[in-house]
Amino acid sequence: MRPDILNPLFAETETLDGVGPKLKKPLDRLGLTRVRDLAYHLPERFVTRRAVDNADEVGEGEQIVIRLTVTEHRGGRSPRAPYRVLAQDTLGNVLALTYFGRASYTAKKQLPVGETRWVAGKLERFGDMLQIVHPDHVVEEGGDTLQRLCEPVYRLSEGLTQPRLAGLIAQALGKAPELPEWIEGSQRAKHDWPSWREAIGQAHKADHRDARDRLAYDELLANSLALMLVRADNRKRKGQPLKGDGSYRSRLDLPFPLTGAQKRSIAEVESDMAQEAPMLRLLQGDVGAGKTVVALQAMLIAVEAGTQAALLAPTEILARQHFESLRRMAEPTGARVALLTGRDKGRAREATLMGLLDGSIDIVVGTHAIFQDKVAYRNLATVVIDEQHRFGVGQRLMLASKGKRAPHVLAMTATPIPRTLTLAQYGELDVSKLDELPPGRQAIDTVVLGQDKLGALVERLAAQVAEGRQAYWVCPMVREMDGPEDIAAAEARYAALHERFGDDVVMVHGQLAGELKDAAMERFARGDAKLLVATTVIEVGVDVPNATLMVIEQAERFGLAQLHQLRGRVGRGSQKSFCVLLHGETLSETAQERLKLMRQTQDGFLLAEEDLRLRGGGELLGTRQSGDTPFTVASLEQITELLPKAYDDARLLMERDGGLEGKRGEAARVLLYLFERDFGVKTLRGG
Ligand code: ADP
Ligand code: MG
Repeated sequence: MRPDILNPLFAETETLDGVGPKLKKPLDRLGLTRVRDLAYHLPERFVTRRAVDNADEVGEGEQIVIRLTVTEHRGGRSPRAPYRVLAQDTLGNVLALTYFGRASYTAKKQLPVGETRWVAGKLERFGDMLQIVHPDHVVEEGGDTLQRLCEPVYRLSEGLTQPRLAGLIAQALGKAPELPEWIEGSQRAKHDWPSWREAIGQAHKADHRDARDRLAYDELLANSLALMLVRADNRKRKGQPLKGDGSYRSRLDLPFPLTGAQKRSIAEVESDMAQEAPMLRLLQGDVGAGKTVVALQAMLIAVEAGTQAALLAPTEILARQHFESLRRMAEPTGARVALLTGRDKGRAREATLMGLLDGSIDIVVGTHAIFQDKVAYRNLATVVIDEQHRFGVGQRLMLASKGKRAPHVLAMTATPIPRTLTLAQYGELDVSKLDELPPGRQAIDTVVLGQDKLGALVERLAAQVAEGRQAYWVCPMVREMDGPEDIAAAEARYAALHERFGDDVVMVHGQLAGELKDAAMERFARGDAKLLVATTVIEVGVDVPNATLMVIEQAERFGLAQLHQLRGRVGRGSQKSFCVLLHGETLSETAQERLKLMRQTQDGFLLAEEDLRLRGGGELLGTRQSGDTPFTVASLEQITELLPKAYDDARLLMERDGGLEGKRGEAARVLLYLFERDFGVKTLRGG
């Protein structure tokens, strides 16, 4: 039960003055559905303006507040021409206040000829003219101009304006209660941090480092605590020691010898699984390093010990691919492998559920459907999670609750995660590294081209196809995870390529019906289709060794780690492979730098580090979060700096008051609910 003190913060945004259905939409789009979300919608940056009394002392492009007397209105001659209001400063310099479109109505009202006004905005030079385009504020003398010298700038969505959103946030902050202190006293004193309520207010007013750090620390502390509570609960439940006799593994008939790194990782997994304490191990290995075989061995150990294993994939397509390849590999061992996704219905689904219950299925591969309440296992003892960073923390932790005993968990990722982030996502965990690619892999040549070279590229592609090769064509990422624009882009590209290549082209994207997606993937995997047009859904895991060309459109929109993952789809066979990064007309300097880096290196670890640096650094206030962290307040920089402390703080609290019953424990419960890490609190009940 959420503590009552938080009720005002968890009220819906509609309870605020002025929020109706019309305003709710743009708020929802930003994920701001409750008062709490508005309070935590921290400014992306602040504009700081200088108060001046004449334009002579102002530099080009400076943000100012200036006192002006209106002299003349010059309406646009055509509807599209700008509307200009001329005004003089104290020295007689003439400035133009320039308005486009409907904004001119406001200008007419706010700036009567002969009156004096304070005007805030950016001073620019347009030919010989000094001008401010669309002033941020126009205030009558005696108004609150001076307060506005420093103003927050918020991330908006269509249908919202800065003043509108700022007004709502101010209302939300007005409802924020005093909350009990959950940070350890000496920790707070050391940093001289404000109380929660002060901090959340200050963070909206100006660039208060302390306030922001405190808020970030709260989030990191909440997460650390939640993880520890769940871990403590898991430990109480214990795991099953699993010792395999090698009977299944010895019948494997792999077409290649294992690499040294694979052997080492398998040995580490084997020794973990033999313990009663549940394994929690992360297997890091670059794309193509061969993680699947390691997963298979772990699952066969489980089967040898008379238990079941599950492999969880982030998408339907990947689940299917894993299922196919694992079934093929496991065939000679006699282990029975099944597939279960949200799409399976009716009798086939019933049969699978039955098999899981009576133990006639040894290994199940699927999407999160395999952990739904209705799915019961005879004895699930091992869980492998592929591409773990795509799952939310909560989802991962829920896995641990299937079965009476805590399962052994092996998480696999191709994205090298810095230790601070693994700490954030899992708490303590062990890491195995596949730092050695299978022998014989060829370097992939990466080329960066402007979109205007598309025609030449298609000819090149035709030549490859004529030689029997296959290719991927990834469409621009307009939104994360297949929004309507992404699909429109993919469909348009597919239509264009279909004209040239006919039925040699297939397409997959998130909105296609499951069977169509499967059919397309199958045709491509079999080699019947030569060209696969896709949104980013193929990002991870797809394995077609005959594919030698990867084209990525508007590559500048992708993160480095993601580009690297996509590139890793080719270069899996014996043929020379290429990756073509197409980019739009204008490229920012950072974008150029990133694409250059892609050309220069194929080292996934290096790219991931650079990706973090380029995304984390340079952002004002560090408000931009990494998509790979479970945090919405803490920036990468803050995570690096504050997480270890928050983690220690949490551990100390757990040692003193593991049931969260003392005064600080109570406060910590409030914190867990505030950040919706209350699945941690739930483990306390009845324990
Ligand atoms: P990832 O780590 O990206 O999941 P996979 O497990 O899909 O990599 O393996 C990529 C490809 O490498 C597969 O075709 C697999 O059969 C092959 N492979 C795995 N291990 C080896 C090895 N030791 N030697 C040669 N090929 C291997
Ligand atoms: Mg894989």
